[in-house]
Amino acid sequence: MPSVFIKTYGCQMNERDSEAVAAQLVAKGYTLAPSETVADVVLLNTCSVRDFAEKKAIGKMQNLAADVRKNRPNVVLGFMGCMAQSRGQELIDKLPDVDLVLGTQKFHHAADYLDEILTGHRDKIVDVAAESGSEATIREHLLYGNIARNGDGHRPPLQITAYVSIMQGCNQRCTFCIVPDTRGEERSRSIPDIVAECRQLVSQGVKEITLLGQIVTSYGKRGGSSREPENFLPSTLDARPSTTKTPFVQLLEAVHEIEGLQRIRFTSPHPKGYGDDLIEAYARLPKLVESAHLPVQSGSDRVLKLMHRGYTRERFLGLIKKLRRARPDIGITTDIIVGFPGETEDDFELTLSLAREVEFDNAYLFKYSPRRDTPAAEMPDQVPLKIREERNHRLLETINEIGKRKYDAFVGRRTQILVEGPSRKNPARMTGRTRCNKIVVFEGSERHRGQLLDVKITRAGSFTLYGDPAILGED
Ligand code: SF4
Repeated sequence: MPSVFIKTYGCQMNERDSEAVAAQLVAKGYTLAPSETVADVVLLNTCSVRDFAEKKAIGKMQNLAADVRKNRPNVVLGFMGCMAQSRGQELIDKLPDVDLVLGTQKFHHAADYLDEILTGHRDKIVDVAAESGSEATIREHLLYGNIARNGDGHRPPLQITAYVSIMQGCNQRCTFCIVPDTRGEERSRSIPDIVAECRQLVSQGVKEITLLGQIVTSYGKRGGSSREPENFLPSTLDARPSTTKTPFVQLLEAVHEIEGLQRIRFTSPHPKGYGDDLIEAYARLPKLVESAHLPVQSGSDRVLKLMHRGYTRERFLGLIKKLRRARPDIGITTDIIVGFPGETEDDFELTLSLAREVEFDNAYLFKYSPRRDTPAAEMPDQVPLKIREERNHRLLETINEIGKRKYDAFVGRRTQILVEGPSRKNPARMTGRTRCNKIVVFEGSERHRGQLLDVKITRAGSFTLYGDPAILGED
């Protein structure tokens, strides 16, 4: 059977989609190639959030196509994901060596389409149409993917954490964002369907699950298989949808009931979806860890309105207060866009002051980059690159300074981590994560994998903690 290599650009949703496609292909008999240079099929799972990400994927495909044309003419090349969705046929028109363009609602057809191309039944395939029910097709996992890669039948160590896709699409239509076009309208899977997938993962050794979606706090509010009440609630919950709890909180409760599951996380939420029921869930559900990624994007009400974010600075700050009241140790991270069209120096100062007031544990900063077909790209007063860079630099300094202070405060403290496996940078050491989502590196061994371990933090690096397994009875 042919071998496949999937290169992924962009977010965790893309990582998860690539894993599901790889798992589907492995189930059909494909093997996973260790690199693109030896694969029979190379797929690029693309991101459209920034222009740079699109250019990178196109550049990569140009290089692959040149190599394939010269040395390996039978290799199949394909684009999948957000850029495949937004550009469709245009990609093959520009890059005629590409054989497959697979949209974001079509991942589950990957194996069939590749078979058709590899057996010569079809030459080129472009499929970017909407497909009802596709939100429930990202379900296969590749927990033992190394088996095929090792080729020696040796069972690799357990995977401790896993992502579960709960919904697709977004209806928020922030003016800078192309996601509603590339991922479509919000569509949610049913609670029993999601819980079944989580249970299966836990039975295979997974201890921590991250629920994934473009806007998870809107889970179950609009289209998709969760809308039918008879399919929606698990048998353990009230048969009637609750009027006080959002579907997302009902989902958290259902996943929380899974025996053997230790921790629950979710991403990405929207600040306006953080109702009191979700904050109360943090206080009530011990497996829901004290960690929140809350994309604020700007500290200026004027810019938030231009972005169509649907909340104010005051509401955001109020939310942070409530979360910290519910879980004082909560780790809070955010996304911020710097240099949105029309952002003045005063607006930017408001973002800086918000960052100082909240004291984020970390923040992902993005210099605004216009995306075609988004309202913000057509807005007046685009901020020159030099100013965007300068503001980005200033904000980064502030974020790093706050982060350093927050990480330093952990030194000397004991904290619980879930051990995930060897450190990527130094495989001789092990790595785990605190409940508030901080990485801790420590001297350990494979026997620690999957354990909830108390460690004493001895040192703080740049957004990483270093620790020793704590000895009982030690101060
Ligand atoms: S909430 Fe806004 S930024 Fe997030 S995916 Fe939806 S449109 Fe994009």
